[in-house]
Amino acid sequence: ATPTAIMVGTGLGAERGVLFKNAMALETSARVDVVVMDKTGTLTKGEPEVTDVVTGGALPEEEFLRLVAAVERESEHPLAAAIVRHADDLGLAPMAASGFENVPGHGAVAEVGGRRVVVGNRRLLEREGVAPGTLASRRQELAEGGRTAVMVAVDGAAAGVIGIADAVRDTSSAAVAALHELGVEVVMLTGDNAATAERIARRLGIDTVVAEVLPEEKAAKIAELRAGGRRVAMVGDGVNDAPALAQADLGIAIGAGTDVAIETADVVLMRSDPLDVPAALRIGRGTLRKMR
Ligand code: ADP
Ligand code: MG
Repeated sequence: ATPTAIMVGTGLGAERGVLFKNAMALETSARVDVVVMDKTGTLTKGEPEVTDVVTGGALPEEEFLRLVAAVERESEHPLAAAIVRHADDLGLAPMAASGFENVPGHGAVAEVGGRRVVVGNRRLLEREGVAPGTLASRRQELAEGGRTAVMVAVDGAAAGVIGIADAVRDTSSAAVAALHELGVEVVMLTGDNAATAERIARRLGIDTVVAEVLPEEKAAKIAELRAGGRRVAMVGDGVNDAPALAQADLGIAIGAGTDVAIETADVVLMRSDPLDVPAALRIGRGTLRKMR
């Protein structure tokens, strides 16, 4: 690209808070044919809220929530923050946790008041050898409603499920439509469960969903698409997304995201608006056209 075209493209981007880190980023934007989007914090606001608390009956709801919040207070996961906020809003007295262990892509485990409390997804309960029992159908109902279902086991027995909703960003669906107009395929990539992810993808008009992906598998999925000859942009916000952002032809970070994601990406969307993804590709295409 000519220096002038690059300057114009970079300037157009800057006007709407689309920061291209270098000339390569601008040129690659023109050639992207598939956009992979992280769900939580990218297509959704990433400010999840507790909507449902279901206990298996063995524990009263308040005691159940105090145990779960004690574990989640030690975690940095956005779902954990939602649970802690909910417990605080109810005015529940905090309890201390010890021996906290984070299980990436699964959840967390700790001892609370002499009990072993496991909080996370279905896979974590499986790993712990806990049968979900009657809570399996409640989990499924929540997932089909687009909720993320957090499962809880206490002392080796399923104790309850917490439903958490994360509102989709106002412009997510328009962004998907705009990408389709540019002839670009859109893929959702998420660690969340398949039923929840598919429900949200359908609402947004997204073609393909890759769900229940472990953090270390996200980059491998991008490599797989690239090996098929596609030019791949990855859009993400989390620490989890950084390896995938690095692996993509074009890494795009949500400005409200973590420092690691922003540092790793080639493009940063300062307004955290999904509509700036198609905007970035259009600016790239415009720049390339001026070069010829
Ligand atoms: P993502 O942010 O894309 O959902 P993660 O890899 O962070 O992916 O987590 C995958 C899944 O593991 C989450 O959707 C959730 O079900 C579960 N999980 C992880 N950490 C926690 C936690 N601290 N509390 C509850 N659930 C968790
Ligand atoms: Mg995320």
